[in-house]
Amino acid sequence: MSDDIRDTLERIHLIQTRLYDLNGRLRRGPLVLKAQDGNIQKQSANLAQINETYQKLKSEAKQKELEVAANDQAIARRKTQLQESKSNKEYQALQMQIKADEAARSVLDDEALESIEKAEQYAVNIPVAEAELKKVQELYERTKKKFLEEKPKIEAEITQFQQLLQTEEAKLPRDFKEIYNRLIRSVGGNDALAVVENQKYCGGCNHQIPINSLAQILQKKPITCSSCARLLYIPNDFVFDKG
Ligand SMILES: [Zn+2]
Repeated sequence: MSDDIRDTLERIHLIQTRLYDLNGRLRRGPLVLKAQDGNIQKQSANLAQINETYQKLKSEAKQKELEVAANDQAIARRKTQLQESKSNKEYQALQMQIKADEAARSVLDDEALESIEKAEQYAVNIPVAEAELKKVQELYERTKKKFLEEKPKIEAEITQFQQLLQTEEAKLPRDFKEIYNRLIRSVGGNDALAVVENQKYCGGCNHQIPINSLAQILQKKPITCSSCARLLYIPNDFVFDKG
């Protein structure tokens, strides 16, 4: 590999970009998992809420059924009393009571049916919420598995690129190294360097680079972009346009 400063800067830039990407993937994994876990918590709470409402509706329906049964028992009891009644007055009072109970029974029956129907209709929400929960749980497991598989590979690549970076950085002349190190500390590796694009623009911020600066870059001087401060290098196929 050439030790020409242009080549070295280009390689450092490539390595820094790759490291930035790899570190980003390493950081994003747990963040994505955390967000997906949040969805699981949300869907779990939703399912619990739905189950609770369903249980409430079911117990309301059960209560109505009990009321119907109690009313039926009251009617049966009064019919027995009717047969055993000893006075006309008692007989008439019981008959009226039975009529009232029978009228109430039809209302209670309707209410009981309505309650049962309401609970049954609501019950369809349960499998929907269960499926929703299962979906987010499976997504979480898939993401986790994928990330755990990728993590050691990413880490190995990072180690490899860091070693390469050290080798390349060691080739930088002192004047370049001072500027480079300062940029690494202040803006980080990914934003420390920029290539000159279209013969005269900073590849980092698109600022136009003065001809003077381009001439100095060609003379292998460390030149930074006056707008974004990135250390500049020219591409391999650079053509110096004096006009
Ligand atoms: Zn710039």
